Amino acid sequence: MGGCLKCFGSDSKEDPKKEPIIDKEDSKTNTTSDSITQRKSSAAAPVQITLEDFQIEKVLGKGAFGKVFLVTKKDNGQVYAMKALRKEMIEKRNQVVHTKTEREILGSIDCPFIVQLRFAFQTPDKLYMIMDFINGGELFFHLRRSTSFTEERAKFYAAEILLALDYLHTQGIIYRDLKPENILLDAEGHVKLTDFGLSKQFFGAENQKAFSFCGTPEYLAPEILKGTGHDKAVDFWSLGALIYEMLAGAPPFYSRNREQMFRNMLSKPVEMKPHFSPAACDILKSLLQVDPRRRLSNANEVKTHQFFEGIDWGKLWKKTIEAPFIPKVKGPRDLQNFDKMFTEEKAEESLIVTHLNAEQKAANRYDGFTYKDPSHL
Ligand code: AMP
Repeated sequence: MGGCLKCFGSDSKEDPKKEPIIDKEDSKTNTTSDSITQRKSSAAAPVQITLEDFQIEKVLGKGAFGKVFLVTKKDNGQVYAMKALRKEMIEKRNQVVHTKTEREILGSIDCPFIVQLRFAFQTPDKLYMIMDFINGGELFFHLRRSTSFTEERAKFYAAEILLALDYLHTQGIIYRDLKPENILLDAEGHVKLTDFGLSKQFFGAENQKAFSFCGTPEYLAPEILKGTGHDKAVDFWSLGALIYEMLAGAPPFYSRNREQMFRNMLSKPVEMKPHFSPAACDILKSLLQVDPRRRLSNANEVKTHQFFEGIDWGKLWKKTIEAPFIPKVKGPRDLQNFDKMFTEEKAEESLIVTHLNAEQKAANRYDGFTYKDPSHL
């Protein structure tokens, strides 16, 4: 689990990705699939999209319950990323609500820094989500290649991520799994958050808390670890951990021994590196506060922190600020920014199209999963 410190080199193959821990789902604040409002009013329109509409090309990556493939839509040649999830795995690990939440959140948001869902459908044994293919690769991939980023580059990514988190929080959503593995770069070098499998949507009271034990150990906020209830402040802790990792090349409080890492997190002050600027040290101290009540967790206050000095937030939202690094991308199917460990794998997915029969429909726990973005082709 997680990367070992000596492995934080340039070869991503030897540097394992940080895996999320997924425990039981919240029982206190569970949502149902009907309770999430849709961004686009006609989102529930009947669609006939099936797996047969897509040509499976390559494997792009793997998540906890299945693979993500590069696919081409046969009728118009458009490329997409297709996330395939095995229902059996989801049910075995009690993640039905989280999975439905991921699909509902992705179908309800519209933010320049979050991956866009275009279609969703299901077969008796799998769930499929078809998203825009973001071809600049994971921030993780680029960070491991460079070991660490300059403060200017880290500031740019952190600022775009902050806008994405602020957008989600104003929609009542906490993201809960911020890490370089879940941040993709588009062809122009702007960020896109992906993987909402651990996100949570609140309805109602401002002070509502979630209680799931979930997240990725290196990025887990102390209040999740303690099980005392958590809210959007956990995303600000993770933002601090992300800024730290971008500047230092390894997460804060890191130890190969996970128990030790958690002890460090709860009891040790974060270790500042000699090359961190005073503004970086200050924002890291403010975000990596163990007590969420003392943590900097108000987006407007974060925006005006000295670390982000010079950022024009309006232009940033419009993506008119040029990114500090433009990924090399030769064309829409170019996979040079993805790990060969995945892209060289045989891309197989059963193309025998099976539809839910009446009995399966009656027993189906994923009613309402089907989706088509009405603003898309
Ligand atoms: P996930 O299960 O959502 O974490 O996805 C696993 C991996 O698949 C990610 O870490 C990315 O490398 C890749 N991936 C997911 N979504 C996309 C996308 N929309 N475009 C390109 N790659 C993606």
